[in-house]
This record gives sequence, structure tokens and C-alpha cells, in this order.
Amino acid sequence: MTSPLVEAVVDLGALARNLGHLRRTVAPAELMLVVKADAYGHGRVRTAQQAVASGIRTIGALDVESALDLRANGIGPEIAVLAWLYPPGQGFADAIRARVDLSASSVAEIAAIADAARRVASEPGFAPPRLHLKLDTGLHRNGATAADWPAVVTAAVRAEREGLVRTHAVWTHIAEASDDEDTLSLERFHAGVAVARDLGATVALRHLAASAAGMVRPDVRLDMVRMGGHSWGIPSIDGVTPAELGLTPVMTLRAQVLGTRPGPDGTTLGFVSAGYGDGVPRNVAGACAVAVRGAQHPILQVERDHLVIGATGELAIGDVVTLFGPGADGEQTARRWGDLSGTLGDEIVTRIAARVPRRYVDA
Ligand SMILES: *Cc1c(COP(=O)(O)O)cnc(C)c1O
Repeated sequence: MTSPLVEAVVDLGALARNLGHLRRTVAPAELMLVVKADAYGHGRVRTAQQAVASGIRTIGALDVESALDLRANGIGPEIAVLAWLYPPGQGFADAIRARVDLSASSVAEIAAIADAARRVASEPGFAPPRLHLKLDTGLHRNGATAADWPAVVTAAVRAEREGLVRTHAVWTHIAEASDDEDTLSLERFHAGVAVARDLGATVALRHLAASAAGMVRPDVRLDMVRMGGHSWGIPSIDGVTPAELGLTPVMTLRAQVLGTRPGPDGTTLGFVSAGYGDGVPRNVAGACAVAVRGAQHPILQVERDHLVIGATGELAIGDVVTLFGPGADGEQTARRWGDLSGTLGDEIVTRIAARVPRRYVDA
């Protein structure tokens, strides 16, 4: 059997260990695994299934379509799945039938969710959808403003009294830009929770932090922390390696040497079977390295379907090239690639193209 030209190896064992470590770190707060952008390129369904097997009870899907995809692929209603980003005119009936938790940050969204609930309420097995009311605390990313907040909460409480929704959580997204800003967000958040409770909402769950703040600030963990990057073994804190956070990168990107020819100064140029068509950013050329049999070689050029490396040691056709991964073959991590090429490790893994096969292993 020939190996694929390029493949993304996804280590479900590493994911399970990361999740175990993160759960222990944030406990007694719960850990939500965020699987937006096809689980940052790792594959939403397989990784969500692994997460559930590892004890994760809440998954952040981003959109309704992704949430329904999880429900259709073995993530049952005992696992909370949250959707929070909606295109204009989003329909909610299927999400309600599938028991997807729904974020709401405006009176109009609550009205749309309540209307959908009214339409499906007579169907067998109907349960009012649980709402996560979203407050803006400074990031200005689709949360209710403090001025609108009482009206949003009141609309949710009214819909709850009609049996159409259940108030359940209050949440926000903190900026994680500076400690002071996060502290301010936290204060605004606590104030918002108090307002919600005063107006009759149930607040069983409060969540605001993601990977960075959730890792280092116990005071922002509250009832739940939502982690994407750290779950995938990609530090979102500057200047730390995955190992220093107790994490292992989950994705390894591999390709092969397809051809060689002599380069300048006794080097060997290698033509490697991955290019920007596979999601390797062009600006890793001149900045990052790949590894072959334990040795790093610089990337000189990135073309659509291949890249060129300049090897100092021996290089042969068919050699396995590790572009990035946990470092087992001496390769750089995705986080390191991000640092060296002026982006985020998250972006490096997330943009690996859909055409690249994902191979799931449990190492
Ligand atoms: C992406 C996202 C997260 C996870 O962020 P990381 O920094 O990758 O952990 C958490 N919450 C929300 C609302 C998000 O959109």
C-alpha cells in the first residue's frame, strides 16, 4: 500500500491525555471542548467521540449545523452541545428537536427560538431548549450590551413561563488580552449574572474563559471553561511550550520526499509532497523547518502542491517528512510554526485543507 502524499495524523490518545490534564486543572469547574472549524482541523466527529469517551460532558460546536452533525454521529442528548453563532434567518426547529443548547444575545434571537419551539412543541419528545444568555463584557463579539441585558433576560424569562425555553446559563467571551481587561470583564459578568437572577432567570451555569485565561486564572473558571487550543495541545499563552503546560500536540502533518537534486553549498534540495493547496502557509518558507529522520531542514519555498526543503544531511526519495507535530521526530510544533511565521499555532492546524486525509491513531 502506498502512503498518501500528505496526511494529518490525529493522535486520539494525546487528545484524551490533554483533556484529562485540563479537566484536573480547571476542576471543580467543568471543561467544554470547543470543536469549531472542524475541531481546529482535527475532525469534529472523531475527536468529539473521543472526548466523550474521556469524560467530556459539554461540547462547543459554534454553529447549529455543526451541532446537528455531532448529534447525527453518536453524540447523544446526554452530552450538552452548544451553538452560538447564527447566520441571519437561522431556523431553530431542528436544533430544538436535537436538544442542542442555544446561545441567545438579543430579544430577536429569543423570539426566533421561542417561535420555533412553539411550532415543534406538540411533537413527541419535545423539550424546551436550554438557553445560554450571552452578555458582552468588553470583547464586542455578539453579546448583549449591558443596556440591552435586562430586556434580553426578561424576554427569556417570559418565554420560559410559556414553556418554550429554559433559562440555564449566562456566558460571555473575555478578551484574554490583558489581566486588567479580564478582571473588568469578570466584574461586568458577575453584575450581569446578578441582574439575570433578579429578573427571574435560572443561572445554573456561568462560563466566560477559554484556553489562555482558564489555564492561569482560577478566578475566571467559574462553573465551566471552554477550551479549543489547549485541548489540541497548542498553547495560547505566549512563550510556553506544550510540554510546559503538560500538553501534547494532537496533530502531526506528514508528507514524503518525491524528488531530490543537488543544491548550493553541498546541500540537497528535496521536493516534498505538501503545498499551500494542502494548507501549508506560504510564509513558512524561510521561517520554519521540517524534520526527516530526526534532523530539521529549512523550508525554502512553498508551492501549490509541493514545497522545497534544503537538506544538509542525507535525503532520499520516499523519506517521510514531518512538517509539524509533537516533536517525536525532532519536528517543530504547530505553535512554533505559528511563532516563526507570524501567526498562531491554532491557525496552522485549522487551515490544513479538507483534501488532506486525517488518520486517527491512539498512541
Ligand atoms: C473559539 C472559542 C473558544 C475557545 O478558544 P481557545 O482559545 O481556542 O481555547 C471559547 N469560547 C468561544 C466563544 C470561542 O469562540
